[in-house]
Amino acid sequence: TSHAPGAGRYAPSPSGELHIGNLRTAVLAWLFARTTGRRFLLRVDDLDRVRPGAAERQLDDLAAIGIDWDGPVVHQSERLPAYAAAIAELITAGHTYECFCTRREIQQAATAPHGPMGAYPGTCRHLSAAQRAVRRAEGRPAALRLRAEVTDYEIIDQLHGRYRGAVDDLVLRRGDGIPAYNLTVVVDDAAGGIDQVVRGDDLLPSTPRQAYLAELLGHAAPTYAHVPLVLNQEGKRLAKRDGAVSLSDQRALGNTPEGVLSAIADSLGYSARTTAELREVFDPTHIPGKPWILEPIGLFRPEGCP
Ligand code: GLU
Repeated sequence: TSHAPGAGRYAPSPSGELHIGNLRTAVLAWLFARTTGRRFLLRVDDLDRVRPGAAERQLDDLAAIGIDWDGPVVHQSERLPAYAAAIAELITAGHTYECFCTRREIQQAATAPHGPMGAYPGTCRHLSAAQRAVRRAEGRPAALRLRAEVTDYEIIDQLHGRYRGAVDDLVLRRGDGIPAYNLTVVVDDAAGGIDQVVRGDDLLPSTPRQAYLAELLGHAAPTYAHVPLVLNQEGKRLAKRDGAVSLSDQRALGNTPEGVLSAIADSLGYSARTTAELREVFDPTHIPGKPWILEPIGLFRPEGCP
């Protein structure tokens, strides 16, 4: 039997400029998709923490280093009805409850000696209708949580193998009404026919939650590949203060997008000047397992300098 080709994706949050680590993850996601005959979709996760103009610059930077995508860019801000429909489905199936806890209460409860049921201790899980009415009358905005029926869930990752991680009563819709990332990612990946998720390994711990939620919503889990991040000299997640970490920083130093792409290829063990060249030689079974520790600015010398 033959199947329609699936799709991979890259889903940046438009909170600022993409740095070299984000670009490298995007390149890897693109390579995994393109070397397996998949479409490649781009989604802007713009429900939260949006900086005006950031999404446009991110897309420009991705295009500049040679990443292309199929079809129109998806914006989460335009998909609220789809999230509402998924939430309604979960409510109808009895998989949710309202949570009135403040951030502080959750922190206190989660560290209590006999408390934790995963990260959220389930404080509001067993509230009676009367108790809920009292809380509502207090004027606390309720978040909607998943009534999880498991405490952990196993996924298979192309780089990490079998991975079992915690599933707690995760938030589906925040108190301010915004649908939560763990829900939106599942809804969007399913709607886009995404069957391959390649992203930074900082998201590996969230993946069992998302896979469980996908199962509840009747979606097949995609294949996963959580790739190592790029870190700074202290072994911490790369940030703006680490120097010339964005494409515009590099341009200001006289470096080109091709130079940045070459450095990314180099970090993966390949010599290539374009994504097309990289695609010819890329082997997904040979991803460096360790994070790429970024040298200070010197890593990207303007082309032509020794
Ligand atoms: N917008 C999310 C992020 O940048 C997407 C993560 C994902 O690929 O699922 O962290």
